[in-house]
Amino acid sequence: MTRAPRIAKPKSKDVKLTDVNRLWAAVVARDATHDGRFVYSVATTGVYCRPSCASRLARRENVRFHDSCSMAEAAGFRACQRCKPDQISLQNGYAAKVTQACRIIETAMVMPTLADLAAAIEMSPFHFHRIFKTTTGITPKAYATAHRRKVVRDQLSKGQSVTEAVYDSGFHSSGGFYAQSTDLLGMSPTAFRKCGAGMRMQFALAHCSLGEILVAATGRGICAISMGDDAEALRRDLHHRFSDAQISSGDKSFNKLVAQVVALVERPGGNMDLPLDVRGTAFQQQVWAALKKIRPGTTASYSDVAKSIAQPSSARAVALACGANPVAVAIPCHRVVKSDGALSGYRWGIERKRALLDREATSKPSRTKK
Ligand SMILES: [Zn+2]
Repeated sequence: MTRAPRIAKPKSKDVKLTDVNRLWAAVVARDATHDGRFVYSVATTGVYCRPSCASRLARRENVRFHDSCSMAEAAGFRACQRCKPDQISLQNGYAAKVTQACRIIETAMVMPTLADLAAAIEMSPFHFHRIFKTTTGITPKAYATAHRRKVVRDQLSKGQSVTEAVYDSGFHSSGGFYAQSTDLLGMSPTAFRKCGAGMRMQFALAHCSLGEILVAATGRGICAISMGDDAEALRRDLHHRFSDAQISSGDKSFNKLVAQVVALVERPGGNMDLPLDVRGTAFQQQVWAALKKIRPGTTASYSDVAKSIAQPSSARAVALACGANPVAVAIPCHRVVKSDGALSGYRWGIERKRALLDREATSKPSRTKK
């Protein structure tokens, strides 16, 4: 089938003016999805409108359809003051620019800078950033991060190797990826891919003074301790994190372990050496081991911990490893605070962190704060 050459009318390329009944139906329905695709003019008023205009519906015999604002104007009509159809093309132009920027981000091997993106779509960085955020609701950087996260997740779940997934997602090097992987995946890439495959665990929910608590353990030791307000949400999160594991409810003997964990929450300074089965990257394991050396009733900053593992410049990575701690209280990440003493974040809620530190401070009054 051959097609007659058309005059370039980019804003209306999918509008067929022959299909006037469909266009009229869009006007009757005030269907905003057609805005920007065509406009209609009303002979009796001399104005032209976007399909969604809220003005009183004109009589069909007075209405004509136009591919674009300029064509309506060429036919002698002026833009409606109410629906301002001539401003749609501007918005559509922005949407096209933003879409173009999204495609650049998605296909780039390395995340382009804001200046590069803005230059590619011929806008100032400031203006580009603003219209991107207005159109998508997020910044270009957040979009890029979300995109990479999706690519990595998709590819790891397809069974691709970590290295391949990292390169395909556009991370510059796997080093850069590993530094961010806790942010992106919530756990190390290898652990994510496994999703607990081959692991068998029991779990139980209990109530403690800080709310609901979930304890899960493999045959080797405790693999998860989490706290929250909603027991069902904790259970769902466990099944989500270990979606490939065999998870069953704890038997009677399991209750003893749960009681020990609850006791630890009630007296977080107590010196209870619970068996743990926590999986993480070598770096995470190193950080978690360092956390266990912070004495009850004292706190350390992220950079203190970084120094203690002889990696003084990795305070940010330490913070990520703290955030990835799978076992609340048993690995006392609640004892890590900002350099100025502020509590910063806690995976299980900042109020619980404050309560744990308060309990340690009051039950160990003889300890000196560092
Ligand atoms: Zn109008």
